[in-house]
Amino acid sequence: MQRDGEPTFRESVDLMFNRAVQLMDLGPGLEKKIKVCNSTYTVRFGVRLRGKIETFTGYRSVHSEHMEPVKGGIRFALSVNQDEVEALAALMTYKCALVETPFGGSKGGLCIDPRAWEEHELEAITRRFAYELIKRDLIHPAQNVPAPDMGTGEREMAWIADQYMRMNTTDINGRACVTGKPPHAGGIQGRVEATGRGVQYALREFFRQPEDKAAAKLSGGLEGKRVIVQGLGNVGYHAAKFLSEEDGCKITAIIERDGALTDERGLNIEDIRQWMVKHGTIKGYANATYVEDGTVLLEADCDILIPAAMEGVIHKGNAGNIKAPLIIEAANGPITFGADEILRQKGCIIIPDMYANAGGVTVSYFEWVKNLSHIRFGRMQRRAEESRHQMLVDELERLSADKGLGWTLSPGFKDKYLRGAGELELVRSGLDDTMRTAYQAMREVWHGRGDVEDLRTAAYIVSIGRVASSYISKGL
Ligand code: NAD
Repeated sequence: MQRDGEPTFRESVDLMFNRAVQLMDLGPGLEKKIKVCNSTYTVRFGVRLRGKIETFTGYRSVHSEHMEPVKGGIRFALSVNQDEVEALAALMTYKCALVETPFGGSKGGLCIDPRAWEEHELEAITRRFAYELIKRDLIHPAQNVPAPDMGTGEREMAWIADQYMRMNTTDINGRACVTGKPPHAGGIQGRVEATGRGVQYALREFFRQPEDKAAAKLSGGLEGKRVIVQGLGNVGYHAAKFLSEEDGCKITAIIERDGALTDERGLNIEDIRQWMVKHGTIKGYANATYVEDGTVLLEADCDILIPAAMEGVIHKGNAGNIKAPLIIEAANGPITFGADEILRQKGCIIIPDMYANAGGVTVSYFEWVKNLSHIRFGRMQRRAEESRHQMLVDELERLSADKGLGWTLSPGFKDKYLRGAGELELVRSGLDDTMRTAYQAMREVWHGRGDVEDLRTAAYIVSIGRVASSYISKGL
């Protein structure tokens, strides 16, 4: 949604891009080539529903094909429009470059309120939209690979994969045409949680850097930090759950579309999520204080603010009132260009979207590789790893017995050490490594150059540099 006096979402992304390229030395014309969106396909299609033909409008934008396939989610929301899809496609280009997933950037959207339709109706709509994109190679394992985004999830991805395979019955790599599928339909363990998990890993990496914490006037670890989360959907729920259950954060407020819940002692995220799933709203939840105008809580006192719902929620109108010293953009584009300026002047540290929510595309990459290799991660190595570990434990115990040393390995250690890594452990390890490596790349630019004020500009510089190298080596 565009606010008065503020740029559109796409313009906002372009302005942030401009701020970074001013500090770079790209060859003539390359800056424009990287910035523009290569193509946007608009499709209007009809589906017979409830006794009449309903017409829907959908989009698939391809921002950059410097690497193929291009990658980017499909969003189902009434707010979907060309500007938004193009902004999100551009962010995908920069995100993939930043976390080194070998993809160009793309995004899709369907203008629909998914809650207004029954499951079988949504299936018919999704399959028809997928059909329109597949027949133009806008869904294809080697060319364009969607994933879930706002309003879509495993179910929709399974319909899309099945639709592709019905239309391409001999394509042995057909399942790689889309990621975010359920594990029983070619998905991968850990994809549903991936974006929220990535937010957790990003924060852990941030808190490992004394200099960066000091810039946000924070100290210590994540334990006890007061966190406000906007949006208890896929990303917000997982981030809030992991941060509270595993890192000791206190989630002091959850802001949803129909109000907010607060509790200074920390909310029970799982309990609230169960309530939301059952009732479709946070209203009526008894174990917290309900606030009707939820958005005011974006301005409440906390250590970390996590906007995890949608774009443009922190704008020129409220940025001046934000108290959080650290914001991590779990959603795409939650802070407008104007708000970003105000927040930076206030000294607020922003961990930018293209890094913060890259966990989704990272695990999507693992899923795509799994589909192309037709084998689950860990299947060949796991038991071999376990038997080598068992040999070492046996040998230690034998030595101890032979020499009468009386050593015993603690049962907890033994259990953990002897268990070989399965798919979920490997996915989490790959994600953690990706988030740490990308953070280091950003902070080197942030602290190392002397002319970069913030992490967002640093992230753009890293990713634009990589996209530029890719174009140059193609001879463009
Ligand atoms: P989702 O549909 O699962 O959840 C969105 C949640 O936000 C819902 O609970 C919804 O009720 C709530 N919400 C919507 N409008 C709101 C508002 N105005 N105020 C407060 N709450 C509101 O979507 P998601 O997949 O969690 O995506 C959220 C954001 O994260 C989007 O910006 C998306 O582009 C981004 N993202 C998602 C993924 C992913 O893997 N799903 C990956 C990268 C980025």
